[in-house]
Amino acid sequence: MRKISALILLFLFQQISFAQKTALLAKALIDGTGKVIANPVVIIDSNKIIAVTNKENIPKGAIIINLGDYTLLPGLIDMHVHPNLTTDDYQVDHLRGSSASKALMGLKNVQDLLAAGWTTLRVAGDGDVGYANIEIRKAINKGMFVGPHIYGAAHYISVTGGGGDINFLSYEQKIIADGLIADGPDEIRKAVRNEIKYGSDWIKLLVTGAFMTAGDNPNNVHFSAEELKAAVEEAARRDVPVMAHAHAAEGIKMAVKAGVRTIEHGSFIDEEAMDLMIQKGTWLIPTFSIHLYFDEKLDGNASLQKAIEIGRKTKESMYTNMRQAFKKGVKFGLGTDDVGWPPNYSAREFGEYVKLGMTPMQAIQCATKVNAEILKKENEIGTIEVGKLADIIAVKGDPLKDISELQRVKFVMIGGKVVKNEK
Ligand SMILES: [Zn+2]
Repeated sequence: MRKISALILLFLFQQISFAQKTALLAKALIDGTGKVIANPVVIIDSNKIIAVTNKENIPKGAIIINLGDYTLLPGLIDMHVHPNLTTDDYQVDHLRGSSASKALMGLKNVQDLLAAGWTTLRVAGDGDVGYANIEIRKAINKGMFVGPHIYGAAHYISVTGGGGDINFLSYEQKIIADGLIADGPDEIRKAVRNEIKYGSDWIKLLVTGAFMTAGDNPNNVHFSAEELKAAVEEAARRDVPVMAHAHAAEGIKMAVKAGVRTIEHGSFIDEEAMDLMIQKGTWLIPTFSIHLYFDEKLDGNASLQKAIEIGRKTKESMYTNMRQAFKKGVKFGLGTDDVGWPPNYSAREFGEYVKLGMTPMQAIQCATKVNAEILKKENEIGTIEVGKLADIIAVKGDPLKDISELQRVKFVMIGGKVVKNEK
């Protein structure tokens, strides 16, 4: 009996000490820190990167994945996604779908995004009465499904009649809106507490009106300063950061003053708001992709006509504002506002950053190193360095020469596991 247990122990020991390592070879490595390394060899042991080296140092017996003339990059991070939303019939689709159906749809969406190179997502609240996106995260983290790392908010918190409310039905209709409706500091505190109780690790506030919702105006500020203060204070007590959807300049200023960590969209930002963001270190996440997508692909979509029209009318001034914000020194993260488009579309965001005056390297760093810092996960993700999770993607060409290469990700590894390998 003792002999058998000793043998089992020896076997287990061998399994642990001789667990196979993986060596990933390519033509170039953009490591996320700003460096480009030629002929890199990345050594992975289980889920982590243990060395970034060269061919001489490949451990004996390692599994070799040779990606030839491909370029390796850190897995991409999208700071603004909505896996439970659709563009087919926005808000009415919310009423049609149960939370269970949204969980299934959302799981498919996040898996498709992973295959497109997005290894980490921050959900900017979702249109769901339940907590579908939290359930998706739990199932992935338990190992039931392969999927990206997910952070974020279960819901977007909105005032009555705001961007998270349904404003096109008669008052007799008692429905539950896509957003979480809260009015006054007390209700907002309770909403924040509920979000955290059921798994949100970010709070999402719709501080101003929105482009997409019927019956509200993105130029209006919806939350009072008192309500914003209550939300941020309550979240901070639990060490949970706040992201603020804000188009109107006044809403941006109020949110920044209240202490939010990121401003989402920021379309009508003015110089005073830029200065305030620089002073407070608040990040800006402009989400160009959603405007591009609506403009290019959804013309004639009745439920989104308002968003398409406002988007077209304000496009020029929005780009001018963003260019100025970047030039002035406002910190940019990167998010797309993905509402369920073909997953490769999300990488359109990079090209728009380059149009603002960023180098391709800076744009890539926004979606990797910088986004990891915003998430406070810079010790785990965002760069290809020793000790980080092996979240690594590859593209065929050189994204520093053609940033659109990021729309054609050929190889994806998450936590050391290969989920896509196209030759
Ligand atoms: Zn959004």
